[in-house]
Amino acid sequence: MNFNDINFDTYFKNYPDAEGFFGKYGGSYIPPELQAAMNEITDAYYSISKSGKFISELRRIRKEFQGRPTPISYLERLSDKMGGNVQLYVKREDLNHTGAHKLNHCMGEALLAKYMGKKKVIAETGAGQHGVALATAAAYFGLECDIYMGAVDIKKQAPNVARMKILGAKVIEVTDGLQTLKEAVDAAFTAYCNEYKDAIYCIGSVVGPHPFPMMVRDFQSVVGIEAREQFLDMTGELPDAVVACVGGGSNAMGIFSGFLNDPVDIYGIEPLGRGEKLGDHAASLKYGSEGIMHGFNSIMLKDENGEPAPVYSVASGLDYPSSGPEHAFLHDLGRVKYDVVDDEDTINAFFELSRLEGIIPAIESSHAVAYGMKLAQKMDKGSVLINLSGRGDKDMDYIIEKYGIR
Ligand SMILES: *Cc1c(COP(=O)(O)O)cnc(C)c1O
Repeated sequence: MNFNDINFDTYFKNYPDAEGFFGKYGGSYIPPELQAAMNEITDAYYSISKSGKFISELRRIRKEFQGRPTPISYLERLSDKMGGNVQLYVKREDLNHTGAHKLNHCMGEALLAKYMGKKKVIAETGAGQHGVALATAAAYFGLECDIYMGAVDIKKQAPNVARMKILGAKVIEVTDGLQTLKEAVDAAFTAYCNEYKDAIYCIGSVVGPHPFPMMVRDFQSVVGIEAREQFLDMTGELPDAVVACVGGGSNAMGIFSGFLNDPVDIYGIEPLGRGEKLGDHAASLKYGSEGIMHGFNSIMLKDENGEPAPVYSVASGLDYPSSGPEHAFLHDLGRVKYDVVDDEDTINAFFELSRLEGIIPAIESSHAVAYGMKLAQKMDKGSVLINLSGRGDKDMDYIIEKYGIR
């Protein structure tokens, strides 16, 4: 099967199927006690979140609290520096409240929790970005919020830990194993198993068992819907290419979903980190193979025992050994091209966008900016729309310590 066999007019009706599969990817590979809880979320998602009442409340919140729609900015000076034949644009998800796209799905998940009559939201966090976005949503809706975080990450991410606590969330230290994200996921799942009558689990990307890859994509699709309309309005045409960085893949699915049925080249960018050796990057779609982790089937990086491999990226938000099942599906279909950018080009793009445009991007988003810059030099004409998933304020200390002011 390739993408000519797929009717993208009806794509969102057909994918995922009722069991949560995008082709062979996705599904739900979890213990039976957890499956009952997932079924409850799936049923609630279909019955509640498709209702006019839910949709209009979410739209009002997006406008009045989140600051949507976020604008598209034309990058005149960066386009000129890349030769001037190709026009670069960014979709400004960095201008969302809390500084990134993550609030798009956290507000949706927390609103669903409220409609379901739950008292608490539960999640894990690695670098703390998802924890902060979910703590923000919980404060807004008056829900309790338990965030599971590895002891090592708690030490590394002190400002985000403080933010979550100020927002009223409980940060629960996980001291098993390597004391990082994987152990935090396990601890959060266990807690959810025990508490699912009163709580809902809120995942941080288009990953995990069904219905999360679908639900998070649908909540993020506002990015693509806005971007398509705004770009047409600004230029009278569609962009020739759309680019986004891929960790779990939520910001990418958000913007891609607006353009899947258009004659637009779509690029998902994974972190090449320090190089091609296993352990030096987190480019799962490029170097990985089919496998199951965290309750879903996708393409992942494995060690010699078939377990999730250690990964590395300069951007902690891209540091994940798999990506969402829908990306694996679009990868195999060839509808989206997945490519990589290394740390060096990423940091260069970080400084270029800051200096030439007055926008300090998140290091995650800088991967997409770097690829957009490469495309601008390679294409002989046209336009490229880059999803700027977040702002770089969170990365200041790290950049100054590791790279200095360039
Ligand atoms: C978390 C994060 C990402 C990576 O998550 P996706 O699910 O792949 O979008 C990218 N950019 C920013 C700014 C983030 O905070």
